[in-house]
Amino acid sequence: MKSFDALLNKIEEYQTIIILRHIHPDYDALGAQYGLARWLQRRYPQKRIVASGHEPSIAPSFLPNPEEISLEDCVNALAIAVDTSNYSRIDGKDIWDTCKERMFFDHHVKGDSLTEYEYVDEHTASCSEIITDFIRTFEKEPVALEVAEPLYCGIISDSIRFSINTTTAYTLKMASYLLESQLDINKLNNQVFSMSVNLYRFSNHLREIANYDTKGFVYAIINKEDYVPYHVEAGPAKAKVNVFGEIRGIQTWAVFIEEEDGVYSASLRSHSMTISDIANQFGGGGHLCASGISKLSRSQCDEVIELLKQRVLG
Ligand code: AMP
Repeated sequence: MKSFDALLNKIEEYQTIIILRHIHPDYDALGAQYGLARWLQRRYPQKRIVASGHEPSIAPSFLPNPEEISLEDCVNALAIAVDTSNYSRIDGKDIWDTCKERMFFDHHVKGDSLTEYEYVDEHTASCSEIITDFIRTFEKEPVALEVAEPLYCGIISDSIRFSINTTTAYTLKMASYLLESQLDINKLNNQVFSMSVNLYRFSNHLREIANYDTKGFVYAIINKEDYVPYHVEAGPAKAKVNVFGEIRGIQTWAVFIEEEDGVYSASLRSHSMTISDIANQFGGGGHLCASGISKLSRSQCDEVIELLKQRVLG
């Protein structure tokens, strides 16, 4: 792992710096991407700093969609990927591949060793707090509001408002530093956690279709007919997995959502029990207590459910 000084020195070598995030970006990916991009734009107004990628940002979002950049302009550029250190999860692999050098900032279990310029700490709650720490190392004064806001949103999103075990004194210290920029906490919490009436009504439906048969374990299979009538997309519908974490005595919970016909994505969660190894068995990954799996068949969903059930029953 490189020091922040070594990483900033590398950034300073480049005239064009392209910041990428992971596929299906969440608020932590976007917060880290725009927080870093805006801070670099302000610090180095003579450089070209581009927050790029191909997928749209979360809709509706208070953050812009990524800026397109031609591959020609990437040839002499530095690429920085945030919130992933796993090549297969980068949104904009063509950009990443074309750039002259590459850098990672991430808080997942370390992925591919693709560059020596990386800062990966799986013990932090969010990538946004790593970017905050990076910025804070070189800033004497509070950062501009447009820098602090996305970073704070990333932190509260991945730590679920400082409520899950990954939250540490470091998380709160970084949030405290951002608060010096006069953030409107209430506004930012609403931006990240409020939802459309449709999504709210879908989350009630989700509670109804879940299976509560095993003590300490809840899961739901969400087929297209469960979410399409509510006019919600698969991504936000799957993110409602968090509703089950509120159940007293729950240890592990999961949702499986049908994306294409017969192909499911899963979100697995627990309060403290490791479940990432189960995700790994099916080609997924993430954090010890919050993992995802893509491209599961319906029968593989049943296999994952059985493994989670056995883990809870001990
Ligand atoms: P999700 O359940 O989609 O919110 O993902 C939980 C965590 O696992 C996030 O940190 C994701 O970045 C990560 N993740 C999700 N899907 C995958 C996957 N297929 N492979 C590796 N990591 C994943």
